[in-house]
Amino acid sequence: MTDRESTTCMRCAVGCGYRQRDADEGRGVVDVRGDEAHPTNGGSTCSRGVRETVDPGGERVTEPLIRRGGELRPADWDTALGTVAVRIIEALREGNDNVAVLGSGQQTNEAAYALGKLARGGFGTRYYDANTTLCMASAVRAYVQAFGSDAPPPTYEDVPEAETHVIWGANPKIAHPVLYRWIADSAGDGGELIVVDPVESETAADADLHVRPEPGTDLALARAALAAAVDEGLVDREFVERHTEGFEAMVGSLPDVDVAAETAGVPADRVSELAAAFDSRTLVYWGMGVNQSVQGTGTARSLIDLCLATGNLGPGSGPFSLTGQANSMGNRVCASKSSWPGYRAFDDVADRKAIAREWGVPMTRLPDSSGPGFVRIVDELARGNVDVCWTVATNPVAGVPDSGHVRAALEDGFLIVQDAFRSDTAELADVVLPAATWGESEGTVMNMERRVSRVTAAREPPEGVRRDVDIIGAVADRVVPELFESTRLDPEALFDEVAALTRGTTADFSGISYERLAEELAVRWPAPDADGEGGYRYYNEDDADPWSFRTDSGRARFSNASHEGVPEPIDAEYPLTLTTGRRPDAYNTGVRTRMDADGDGGETTARLHPETIADNLTAFDRGRTVVESRRSAVAVEATPDADVPPGLVWLPVHNPAANELTLSAADPESAEPNLKQCAVGLSAPDRGVADPVDERRASGADSLP
Ligand code: SF4
Repeated sequence: MTDRESTTCMRCAVGCGYRQRDADEGRGVVDVRGDEAHPTNGGSTCSRGVRETVDPGGERVTEPLIRRGGELRPADWDTALGTVAVRIIEALREGNDNVAVLGSGQQTNEAAYALGKLARGGFGTRYYDANTTLCMASAVRAYVQAFGSDAPPPTYEDVPEAETHVIWGANPKIAHPVLYRWIADSAGDGGELIVVDPVESETAADADLHVRPEPGTDLALARAALAAAVDEGLVDREFVERHTEGFEAMVGSLPDVDVAAETAGVPADRVSELAAAFDSRTLVYWGMGVNQSVQGTGTARSLIDLCLATGNLGPGSGPFSLTGQANSMGNRVCASKSSWPGYRAFDDVADRKAIAREWGVPMTRLPDSSGPGFVRIVDELARGNVDVCWTVATNPVAGVPDSGHVRAALEDGFLIVQDAFRSDTAELADVVLPAATWGESEGTVMNMERRVSRVTAAREPPEGVRRDVDIIGAVADRVVPELFESTRLDPEALFDEVAALTRGTTADFSGISYERLAEELAVRWPAPDADGEGGYRYYNEDDADPWSFRTDSGRARFSNASHEGVPEPIDAEYPLTLTTGRRPDAYNTGVRTRMDADGDGGETTARLHPETIADNLTAFDRGRTVVESRRSAVAVEATPDADVPPGLVWLPVHNPAANELTLSAADPESAEPNLKQCAVGLSAPDRGVADPVDERRASGADSLP
């Protein structure tokens, strides 16, 4: 048995420090406990994080697999890597964009950086993205547009300082348990907790005020609250005049409070109560309920506008998006996904030159745009514009809307799946590369408040399994051998390389090293020097003018988006609204938890209000029904649940059954898909699941985008 070592929980982006201990053999670690010395959590943990770490579910892939005769069959590493390399080289002969690479917020910074460098600097493809676009892209665009740089301004240290906590479109009691404990403690200590969510979630059940908009109308509600704040004299004129721009244009674009409240399905007096919350020191947290919308960026900006207008920026207040995956932020900062390392802009000539020089590649190989994003890359696959797709630690068949379309797109080309577990996507692969998982890899992650900390290997990967950076290095060695200095990529050297690339940027962490992390355990960026770390962003209380935003003017910017309606309204044929949310026992796309959650029958459970069931009684048979959308139909177990409003069908997010039904409309600014709302109907299970879809497709009513 190994000694107990410091590491970081990879189950969510709170980023709790653990002390782990492992047996010499077996799957999970023997045990983990909270690290009392860790600056992020001070020893706190949650049962979910510990349980999933110690006893992970899911079926491991323990040897490379190659499809032969229609079946995935075991192969040796040389054959698998050789096959992958040949197919990539052949595809690149037809053009750089003929290879797509899809990464993940589950990767370490080092693996994400290596994959991004290979995709952008080695292959030169525009078609590189990560599944973080499916959850955080709208928040990212909003921060960049408002402040000139990504990442939330506050830190966890601001949570106990806030007087009011507004949680919008998120359920942190389930998704971020340790952070939620801090929020609940603060709210319970004379503060106030306000939750905005169509559903009475576990978090909403604790709220002092629960505001329930119609799904897909968050922007209307946010603008109504902003209009009410202006009407009711809650504007902090001094802050607005000294530190912002675009206020008058924003005010000119605001809707009438009553009209916007009605659009959101919220009584006007509730909107006034919501606006009044911003008359105290307020933190606004938001999650996928805001981001996963065709107007996710506009909605996130409106929440930022609420903070700016009421002077709620500064310690104990501000906009604080809640990140899901453990290393979503690290992926954004390191991976060359939507910007070059350190948030360097794709179209900035000086930055492109610097990246090309550091990587030793011609500037002409670097793509001139960050590409169309995850969902539209799948469309390019479907159109036959991409021959090879390589997924790393991501499961698009379950996580991307309109699964039928995704499955068809991935089946069309040559699919390489690099993963630790058998997933829905791995089942479609031409080659599966078995990867190490948490507890078997060295690296670092960044939590949602910008803290970098180490993940460490408690044990060797199972025989036949390789670490992500080793697999990426081996592919690079066969396709672009000059890209990396060594075939065997060293995590610490990769960290130093990407840290150096952030020097002088808005996400400068060049002052962080493995050596420093061994001593301090976690350091928050910006950290340009070997001591000190970042605090509240854009703010320095010691300066005469404490605010300095990364915009051209140095001021924060207001927005003026307005609600434009949902992309798929209900109608006579599809009279109900489907929404999705996090289930307490589910983890990401559920490859490790779905069997437990779905039970022996393997069917997904839909939550419906008893009135919805009563109104559709003929669609139910022994607790089952078929949920139909314009794209597909799925049989589900139905459970009556008065926490879900009438007219709503609730299914688990990032679940293949739910995503058979969802539509692939995405926010044009962020490329984040509209996973929270589409129109559905119910039918009796004995009609057969496939029939409704087959009928519509046969009639030509449905076509792929
Ligand atoms: S809150 Fe998140 S990071 Fe912390 S122990 Fe729980 S799952 Fe892990």
